[in-house]
Amino acid sequence: MPDPKYLKPWHGLPRDKIHWNPTVDENVCIGCGTCVTGCSRLVYRFDFEKNKSVVYDPLNCLVGCTTCANICPANAISFPSLETVDSLIAQATVHHAIEDDLIGRKAELFNPAEEHQNKHKFIVDKKIQAGPKNLLVYLKPESANDKLKEFVPGQYANVCSPDKNWLCRSYSVCNIPDKEESYVQLYVRLEDGGRFTGWMFSEMKEGDVLNLKGPFGAFRYQSAEDKSLLFIARGAGFAPIKSIIEQILEADPQRNITLYWGVTDTDDFCLLKPIKEWLSIDTNFHCVLTARVVSSDFAPPVGVVFHQGTVYNALANSYFEDFDLVNMDAYLAGPSKTIKEVINVLIIKGFPKDRIFVDSFGLK
Ligand code: SF4
Ligand code: SF4
Repeated sequence: MPDPKYLKPWHGLPRDKIHWNPTVDENVCIGCGTCVTGCSRLVYRFDFEKNKSVVYDPLNCLVGCTTCANICPANAISFPSLETVDSLIAQATVHHAIEDDLIGRKAELFNPAEEHQNKHKFIVDKKIQAGPKNLLVYLKPESANDKLKEFVPGQYANVCSPDKNWLCRSYSVCNIPDKEESYVQLYVRLEDGGRFTGWMFSEMKEGDVLNLKGPFGAFRYQSAEDKSLLFIARGAGFAPIKSIIEQILEADPQRNITLYWGVTDTDDFCLLKPIKEWLSIDTNFHCVLTARVVSSDFAPPVGVVFHQGTVYNALANSYFEDFDLVNMDAYLAGPSKTIKEVINVLIIKGFPKDRIFVDSFGLK
């Protein structure tokens, strides 16, 4: 019998409506018992006659947990795809329930001693609506500090409203903050059900003070000078890519660079100005833009190849024969699903796996 305490709704969803539990491959299980003794929820029993573990109470299993599969020495345990959990968390009611739970437990989960570590106040200097679902936000430090000097192009920051009891959101920084302008530029896309981005769109105003923590993340430029570069971004994944390309062109204005940037709707192309500038200064810069929905007034910048569809399809249909793949590095940023698809297509095209650098922030 499943234990009633594990059958409580999972962030509002009835547990018995969620397909999440382990499956043991009896032919592979070596009967070590690690999963049986390791799972505190008594999902397993042990069949002493067959010397195998048995999934006995599948509904006791914690949604999203894969601990037993990770510790099984024989790789005998499998789970549904993690996209099962991704799609649950994508529901606004679920991620709001998770946020509310975290806020409710803040006292036990939060260490006040760390509150001021690595945290700085920034003023909203400019808030520009750059499309129906896109904002460009410019943040300046409230007082002189060296924080901006620490940002490396490709990194991200946690941004919070100090007077709202809401969770923070992480955003990749899309400029080089230490340049003479001394600001942090964020590209914010409105997501359905996103409470923090919703607040930024509807309530946040110029002059507001935000807390900013960071920089975080290991995604950064790390190629040898003679390498050609392939950048692939989906949606707001263009933010870290933009800052890295700016960094490279500052040092080498004629670098061989190919950029693919895909969005859902051409209205999301809110940062075309830098692309036009790169095309004008770097004769070796090539750009492919993709969108599934094309507005009637959209015209791609001169010199840009436009493809109606996904960035994945554009890549799959591209001829890489002209590319010297051995001397090329690739940088990817965007949602995890797109990144996984793009990695697969690059490998099929013959791209060396160890030359693909991924913004792991996108793989959360
Ligand atoms: S941990 Fe793996 S090998 Fe060991 S009993 Fe469980 S399923 Fe079998
Ligand atoms: S995934 Fe976690 S909760 Fe589920 S059976 Fe394995 S150890 Fe137990």
